[in-house]
Amino acid sequence: MTKGNINVSVENIFPLIKKFLYSDHEIFLRELISNATDATLKLKHLTNIGDAKVEYGDPKIEVKIDKEGKKLHIIDQGLGMTAEEVEKYINQVAFSGAEEFLDKYKDSAKDSGIIGHFGLGFYSAFMVAEKVEIITKSFKDEPAAHWTCDGSPEFTLEPSDKTERGTEIILHIAEDSTEFLEESRISELLLKYNKFMPVSIKFGTKEINDPEHEPATTKDAEGKETTEPHRQITVDNIINNPNPAWTKQPADLKEEDYTGFYRELYPMQFEEPLFHIHLNVDYPFNLTGILYFPKMSNDMQMQKDKIQLYQNQVFVTDNVEGIVPEFLTMLRGVIDSPDIPLNVSRSYLQADGAVKKISSYITRKVADKLKSLFNSNREDFEAKWNDIKIVIEYGMLSEEKFFEKAEAFALYPTVDGKYYTYEELYNKIKANQTDKDDKLVILYASDKEAQHSYIESAKAKGYEVLLLDSPIISHLIQKLESTKENISFARVDGDHINNLIKKDETTISKLDEEQTKSLDELLKEVIPTDKFTVQLEAMDSDESPFTITQPEFMRRMKEMQATGGGGMNMFGNMPEM
Ligand code: ADP
Ligand code: MG
Repeated sequence: MTKGNINVSVENIFPLIKKFLYSDHEIFLRELISNATDATLKLKHLTNIGDAKVEYGDPKIEVKIDKEGKKLHIIDQGLGMTAEEVEKYINQVAFSGAEEFLDKYKDSAKDSGIIGHFGLGFYSAFMVAEKVEIITKSFKDEPAAHWTCDGSPEFTLEPSDKTERGTEIILHIAEDSTEFLEESRISELLLKYNKFMPVSIKFGTKEINDPEHEPATTKDAEGKETTEPHRQITVDNIINNPNPAWTKQPADLKEEDYTGFYRELYPMQFEEPLFHIHLNVDYPFNLTGILYFPKMSNDMQMQKDKIQLYQNQVFVTDNVEGIVPEFLTMLRGVIDSPDIPLNVSRSYLQADGAVKKISSYITRKVADKLKSLFNSNREDFEAKWNDIKIVIEYGMLSEEKFFEKAEAFALYPTVDGKYYTYEELYNKIKANQTDKDDKLVILYASDKEAQHSYIESAKAKGYEVLLLDSPIISHLIQKLESTKENISFARVDGDHINNLIKKDETTISKLDEEQTKSLDELLKEVIPTDKFTVQLEAMDSDESPFTITQPEFMRRMKEMQATGGGGMNMFGNMPEM
């Protein structure tokens, strides 16, 4: 038996670990399962390259609760450790065996999926355990070792009689952490962090119908059929899917695989996603993932189902702020990248070069996908516009690159259900909708019902009227007006409409001159002319013989006040969705 001191200069590191290492105590399980996964993948790699002459088989990781003994066991069938290796890897806090392994097998192992790299993960066990045991048998022909540490810097290391290859970690759960002896709590953690990890994880057993057994059907004397019940068998309860869709090649996946994976990610989400984007890049950074455009319209689940960030199939967080551009945080799906620095502040992330590249890669992929959807099936794209416009319009406002790309697929619907790109719209109205300064005037309505008569009168004059009703549209209009030359937007009920150069003047007033004059006087008396313009003119319907309009600038002032001030401060003003 060896006795010794754990090799750190601090007198007692454990209280520090307990307090400061991770604010979230629950991540200890993720760390220990990551280590078990690493141990398994390392063995896989060594058998592949012939450095370990053992049968790799079909190894799994088991998590077991011993409620009476107040213990939690994590057992793997990985490469194990010799006593010497325990000394080296466990007793030296902050020495990462994972990093050493990757260094040693630099060329062959870089795609092996090894997770660890800080050399601190193991010690997170002390956040929830008062004593930790490691019983481990290396794949090398050496005796097993048994390490015990009660949270002081002292440990014991002695031989063990364990015969199967691999490592068992035993946590003696502390009094203040007994929640981790509850099956439901562990189950919750496994599903949160380990649902897509690459080695099968067993947590208990479950009963299923025996697939080998076909229930027999018998007929009684009257010819009534009865089928015997299915035979039940007990199988391992494997909580994870080791080969999630995002780790596969897009060419190997069908449409239903993508929707199936969406279901796996968000079991409570019943709406189908509108479409997906498969991300897959390995230079200059490593990133895989699948993003989904959800239906945005009145979706209660909206806030809860977010993009999930993984590293080598280990769940890290569903707060991707700073990693994907803000407008894409409304999407759903998975991003997996070992190149995103963790445990650093969000403001640091935003300044990180690799993260910036990742963010702009994602933006570009999303824009490319939208463009190809638009080009390949415009009708379908138009049908989905209402559900995706918020994301696109928000992107156009917040990301200059996206604004440029969106030129190809951003749509401007009319009140009659036609959809124009900006260029199409421009060509359509340039001859007919200019003001006296030769400025192009784009007319729009935001409410088809309320602005019905104005819309009708504009249409009667041969004008196109857009229907722009998203909550951030006034900001987008501002942006377009400042980017495009010599254009302005005007609401159909604004005064601008009267200044347009009309193509033809064929409509004739239904009122004669005398009637017009007296009506004009009457109206000016009852309507405050400082706020509105009264205009008596030909309208083609009997319902509305005249129009009252509000000067465009006044209307905008009001709108700005209503949405909370200046147009530039987009982020603070995003409506709750
Ligand atoms: P990291 O995983 O970042 O290297 P950890 O503190 O999580 O750091 O683990 C330290 C080292 O201990 C690992 O690199 C590995 O060499 C060893 N180790 C931990 N758990 C196991 C295990 N289940 N099987 C084999 N080796 C392990
Ligand atoms: Mg680790």
